[in-house]
Amino acid sequence: MTKIIMYSVRPDEMAAIKDHAKREHLEILTTTDALSASTVDQANGFDGIVIQQRNRIDDDRVYQQLADMGLKQLTSRTAGVDMINVAAAHKAGLLVTNVPAYSPRSVAEHALMQIFRVLRKAPLVDAQVRENNYSWANLQAKEIHSATIGIIGAGRIGGTLAKLLHALGATILAYDVVEREALKPLVTYVDKQTLLAKSDVVSLHVDLNPTSEGLIAANDFSLMKPTAGIVNASRGPVINTNDLITPLENHQLAFAMLDTVTGEEKIFNADHRQDGLGSQPNIAKLHAMNNVIITPHIAFFTNIAVQNMVDISLNDVQDILAGRPTEHSVE
Ligand code: NAD
Repeated sequence: MTKIIMYSVRPDEMAAIKDHAKREHLEILTTTDALSASTVDQANGFDGIVIQQRNRIDDDRVYQQLADMGLKQLTSRTAGVDMINVAAAHKAGLLVTNVPAYSPRSVAEHALMQIFRVLRKAPLVDAQVRENNYSWANLQAKEIHSATIGIIGAGRIGGTLAKLLHALGATILAYDVVEREALKPLVTYVDKQTLLAKSDVVSLHVDLNPTSEGLIAANDFSLMKPTAGIVNASRGPVINTNDLITPLENHQLAFAMLDTVTGEEKIFNADHRQDGLGSQPNIAKLHAMNNVIITPHIAFFTNIAVQNMVDISLNDVQDILAGRPTEHSVE
């Protein structure tokens, strides 16, 4: 029976892992430890290994150690592989794979929820009701089929969002460095400035690269309607956070819905009820505002996405061990 070790396993992944092991007749050992120089020995005696993006593998000798144990691959069940020194892994003869898209729909649905919350002024409603203010003043909403939604980065996730919005009758503008023929019946491609000026909600779905870091900064916010909102479920540094705070404070921008924000690594996926947000003053400022909703990078975190991360990564390991090609090798 093929034996696979999975590192950095969270409790919510266990059901999917057990299902896969049973279905495919695999022996799978799970550990909450991340792969590192001090935990690599646990992989001895296994045919395959699966890790995820938690912390950077701290010592490049780990790759050769895995190869010396007879392992042929290093499979991540996340899209990001920045925890792996891919060149060093290749040098040791390991094939590196990832799961580039585990569920574009998961993030698209989260963005759609946040778009609705902007159109319904949900942060304002919640803040007022919390203070026992049940008046209707300022709370008239906009129906989605009368709204214009701007998608910046219409790739896998942005394209999926476009399909959902199209089904709801929204007018959709898109800005992307690559225009996709398949989306042209659904969206109108425009330049970034036009999209920002015309949209009731702007949703960001670019990947993080040198051209998209700081893609939305002070000049860009100044083009947006004061009633508009911005949704970011892409990567924190796509927005210049300092430049976001001022228009939100001055109500030149109505709402920000942030699933990802610069500095989140120190805050998200942990309980800060005792120590607060002191280490990240910008996140603390945003958190204190009534027109901001922060979610802790959970847009992807759904039943389907977790199942896909587990199944796709384990299928890759099985393919590689059987000498079959995999579509997910990382160069
Ligand atoms: P993708 O590569 O399919 O799409 C990204 C699109 O952005 C591409 O069409 C690309 O041409 C475009 N783009 C890149 N740079 C640009 C620029 N400077 N200007 C305009 N367009 C630009 O990626 P995807 O799978 O759709 O993922 C999109 C983003 O979602 C990534 O940043 C990813 O990290 C993030 N993500 C977030 C979560 C979450 O839970 N919040 C989960 C998964 C992915």
